[in-house]
Amino acid sequence: MKITIIGLGSVGSAVATAVANTGLAHEIVLFDRDGVRARAAAEDLGHAAAFSYDIKITAVNNYRAIRGSEIVIIAAGANQKPGETRTDLLNANAAVISDIVPRVMANVDAKTVKLIIVTNPLDVMVMLAQKLSKLPASRVIGTGTMLDSARLRTILSRQLSVSTQSINAYVLGEHGDSSMVVWSSACVGGIDLNSFCRQTKISLPQTTRNTIEHRVHNAAYEIIRGRGATWDGIAGAVADLVRCIVNDEHRIVTVSIIDGIANKAIAMSMPRVVGNSGVIATLNPKMDATESAALRRSAKIIRKNYDSIK
Ligand code: NAD
Repeated sequence: MKITIIGLGSVGSAVATAVANTGLAHEIVLFDRDGVRARAAAEDLGHAAAFSYDIKITAVNNYRAIRGSEIVIIAAGANQKPGETRTDLLNANAAVISDIVPRVMANVDAKTVKLIIVTNPLDVMVMLAQKLSKLPASRVIGTGTMLDSARLRTILSRQLSVSTQSINAYVLGEHGDSSMVVWSSACVGGIDLNSFCRQTKISLPQTTRNTIEHRVHNAAYEIIRGRGATWDGIAGAVADLVRCIVNDEHRIVTVSIIDGIANKAIAMSMPRVVGNSGVIATLNPKMDATESAALRRSAKIIRKNYDSIK
């Protein structure tokens, strides 16, 4: 499979490595408006690939060279500086998506291509990319809260002393400050979280849950403070999404696509079945009244941000 990555900064470079390491691409094409950076990334990645898979890795300086790509990953645009929120990037990155998506669409097969959106603020960029591309919503997929859900499962795994693989717990809504944890449907090894805690005599009171949710919300801010940007976690999420698509896994992940009707439609993360044709189904987990209200609030914030693009 030929996969294109647009934007080779901290995130795009890490994504390129992670996607190459899936072994699922026979060709990876890299494009950045900074051609020197893209060429350097292609060189470095090519050397790394000599230790793993035979992949053709090329940096290109025009969009014609992305022809034949079945997946296009967009990781270009401004990132958060310490203290900035994802929403602070809104207008700058709307311009970046508006620059990239029409050029991509002029060179790919609209009947099959899947766009993976990484650029923040994620959900609004998914909405914009879908509008510009005119692709079915099921094939304009934002990584959404895959990363936030991974952060939640990592913290819970340490707290409960079980593998992250045994934890089904989701962060939904905006990939941003209004995302919410669905405690009501969290399961460990197929057992609901409360029952698991009773059986293992682990205490997980509301105060601890609040602290965990706070840590999930603040994870990106902490990482940006410590190393200037985040890249490894999101690269893992993108590679996982590529696996779901290429292998037609029908796995359930919390991605962001446009859902809803006409001008009520917004993109936000829900648990979704993903396979070769993109998103196949959206699921509605059990939520209590507080969680449902938090999800509605998150949806409103995304819509408001989308409507405020200048
Ligand atoms: P960065 O500044 O390191 O790199 C951005 C790259 O985009 C640069 O190489 C730049 O030349 C390129 N670029 C900008 N405009 C372009 C255009 N019009 N065409 C082609 N290339 C262009 O930033 P980063 O840390 O790699 O972050 C990239 C984006 O990913 C940011 O929006 C960031 O917020 C987002 N991000 C998302 C998640 C997530 O979970 N979705 C996680 C981390 C970062």
